[in-house]
Amino acid sequence: MSLVTSKQLLLDAQKGAYAIGAFNVENMEMVQAVAEAAEELHSPVIIQTTPGTIKYAYLEYFYANVKTAAKKCSVPVVLHLDHGNSFALAMRALRVGYTSIMIDGSHESMETNIALSKAVVAACHPSGISVEAELGKVGGKEDDWERGEENPYTDPQDAKVFVEATNVDSLAIAIGTAHGIYSGIPKLDLERLSQIRKMITVPLVLHGTSGIPDETVKECISRGICKVNYATDLRIAFSKGIHEILHKYPETIDPKKYNAQGREEVKQYVMSKIKVCKSDGKAK
Ligand SMILES: [Zn+2]
Repeated sequence: MSLVTSKQLLLDAQKGAYAIGAFNVENMEMVQAVAEAAEELHSPVIIQTTPGTIKYAYLEYFYANVKTAAKKCSVPVVLHLDHGNSFALAMRALRVGYTSIMIDGSHESMETNIALSKAVVAACHPSGISVEAELGKVGGKEDDWERGEENPYTDPQDAKVFVEATNVDSLAIAIGTAHGIYSGIPKLDLERLSQIRKMITVPLVLHGTSGIPDETVKECISRGICKVNYATDLRIAFSKGIHEILHKYPETIDPKKYNAQGREEVKQYVMSKIKVCKSDGKAK
């Protein structure tokens, strides 16, 4: 299939009370792993890259990789810009062929966040590309920069004002999750999630899901989360596969050998999370 945009997939998920897994990739093997997992479970899937990952290997490499993976698949595959940190990067991704764009103005004032998100929507919607924005601050380490300790949650009333003002297609909200590795099990404000869902109808996005218990993720989905982002755990899975091979066979010199093991670990991980999201069998 050709790459598709995320809008209809997320609306279908909302209607069907499941979610689409959005998986961060760092290289070709991780792209292959995510696509193979989705194909095997007959699930739609979102493959995404952060600005840090793009800095490592350019938009064009990931576009070529994900486009190729999508072509080999019978399931819908989205290529999404995760945490787009400027209007300029969002436009570069759009021009290269990314089919879904996140603009993250959550660290700005509400006013600036609205203006930035609105501008990206105006640029993306004419070509049918959907836009995700973020309101409230997801804690922890995000991509290459620290957000600090502060973790103010999304205000339901602000969410309503924000979505009406920007016309974004989906909204990432802060209810207590954080990026990176958790030191304990985080307590999520599920009541707040339900309140936000009551106020706005666009699909809601959960960031920082690596390390959140599956049962909690399922609860979030039942309360209105339609896109679930996994990043850190894919890095851990890929590295684990490579460690294992190099530990067992330290003389290995062929990257194909250890990369294949990393790829397999990521594939197994992604398959397990597609089942948590209940999107298996949902590819049209
Ligand atoms: Zn995030």
